[in-house]
Amino acid sequence: MKDDLDCDVLVLGAGPGGYSAAFRAADLGLKVVLVERYPTLGGVCLNVGCIPSKALLHVAAVMDEVSHFEALGITFAPPTIDLARLKAHKDKVIDRLTGGLAAMAKMRQVTVLQGRGEFVDPNQLNVERADGQTQSVKFKRAIIAAGSEAVKLPFLPKDDPRVVTSTGALELRQAPKRMLIIGGGIIGLEMGTVYSTLGARLDVVEMQDSLMQGADRDLVKVWQKMNAPRFDHILLKTKTVSAEATPEGIKVKFESADGTPAALPEQTYDLVLQAVGRVPNGKKIAADRAGVAVSDRGFINVDIQMRTNVPHIFAIGDVVGQPMLAHKAVHEAHVAAEVIAGELLGDAQLSQSAFNARVIPSVAYTDPEIAWVGLTEDDAKSRGIKVKKGLFPWSASGRAIANGRDEGFTKLLFDDSDEAHGHGRILGGGIVGTHAGDMIGEVALAIEMGADAVDIGKTIHPHPTLGESIGLAAEAFEGACTDLPPARK
Ligand SMILES: Cc1cc2nc3c(=O)[nH]c(=O)nc-3n(C[C@H](O)[C@H](O)[C@H](O)COP(=O)(O)OP(=O)(O)OC[C@H]3O[C@@H](n4cnc5c(N)ncnc54)[C@H](O)[C@@H]3O)c2cc1C
Repeated sequence: MKDDLDCDVLVLGAGPGGYSAAFRAADLGLKVVLVERYPTLGGVCLNVGCIPSKALLHVAAVMDEVSHFEALGITFAPPTIDLARLKAHKDKVIDRLTGGLAAMAKMRQVTVLQGRGEFVDPNQLNVERADGQTQSVKFKRAIIAAGSEAVKLPFLPKDDPRVVTSTGALELRQAPKRMLIIGGGIIGLEMGTVYSTLGARLDVVEMQDSLMQGADRDLVKVWQKMNAPRFDHILLKTKTVSAEATPEGIKVKFESADGTPAALPEQTYDLVLQAVGRVPNGKKIAADRAGVAVSDRGFINVDIQMRTNVPHIFAIGDVVGQPMLAHKAVHEAHVAAEVIAGELLGDAQLSQSAFNARVIPSVAYTDPEIAWVGLTEDDAKSRGIKVKKGLFPWSASGRAIANGRDEGFTKLLFDDSDEAHGHGRILGGGIVGTHAGDMIGEVALAIEMGADAVDIGKTIHPHPTLGESIGLAAEAFEGACTDLPPARK
């Protein structure tokens, strides 16, 4: 056992939540220890999530784009793919970002301990280090940022490199000819996009009645039309019931969600990606010894200051619940760090910090991208909320047409309740098209600021840009858009 370490704040887990909490707390003048079981900082997002997937999706998007250039009179030779070099590129991106975090931890004098942490009591955590030694850390406050991991289906073959989660898929070990994606959510469809561009034919199986749940169907429809050529079969309301490893491939059987035989008989795949959700790591940190309540599913309940049932222990990120997104984790991290600093340093303003974001944007970085924030149209319908839509089709956007990518649209939803008198504030928005994810932040800002259509439409957007479609959608709502045919009287 190594000598005890003492600190103001112990942060468990160095993903986007954990490192952001540690850095913010250090910047506010606290003595911080950050515990991470893996050798690099950055957690799922930087090592096996957001960043590596986007490095590969960027390559896929460029490959797809140039393959359409023949119609414009520019012909390239068919691509040759060197998987090892592509993987090296992805790893370099990760190294650069995680190395940057290590350097910034040093600059802030955050003590980083590598090892697996478990609570011993409400003020102590033990870290099992790689060298077998145990380091104990005493803390005044703790922030649990232990994140989540991919759900593994129990009936899939284990230890077979042809059956992977997103982490295995990002290793790019093979270029499969036939790939099955189990789960039609964002992560599965992003990884499917990469492998399809690298040459795989895709099947996707989804228990629900549609792909990409959560996004409005009209947005998803545009993606589905563009991406239909990637898929041999899209199996909805269907489950995978068994899988067997054979020398020819993974043989998979399906069944309809209602238990009747599936439309598709047994199939053989070179690669099976299980992307059926993520489970929080709350049950793996001996939280009970600190008195912290963890739900049956592994989530830790917190209040708007990110405080658990134990007042001096906080929790943030994937481990506290949906949506499991890096940008949510970072904002929650800042709140927890600020509340703690406020309490320990006697700063009344900081100690009032709270997570009170109105909305959290979601993005599928597929091609085209789908991004949405706030209220969706489907949600409004099911909850009986009266909204009026402003929609700008990209077939009228000079920039989208110039880019040869005018399939998308931008829509904004405004409060149409009687009290709004036709000038309601923006409640939500969705964009489908290239770079939709880069633009949705403006819609989020408009919602946070309580903007109405005039605010957005009168904001001068640069021309010709895709972002201009947000202002134009607001003008369309007002009936003031001169880039569209006149509104019907
Ligand atoms: C393929 C993929 C793509 C994604 N793409 C996006 C995206 O584009 N945008 C987006 O916003 N989100 C994306 N996500 C989700 C995003 O990665 C997570 O929401 C985010 O990483 C959550 O951050 P976190 O800090 O809560 O946890 P994590 O990133 O999971 O970090 C938790 C850390 O805690 C460590 N840890 C856990 N238990 C212990 C312990 N006992 N001792 C020591 N260390 C421990 C873990 O090793 C890990 O490093 C993606 C996820 C995946 C899998």
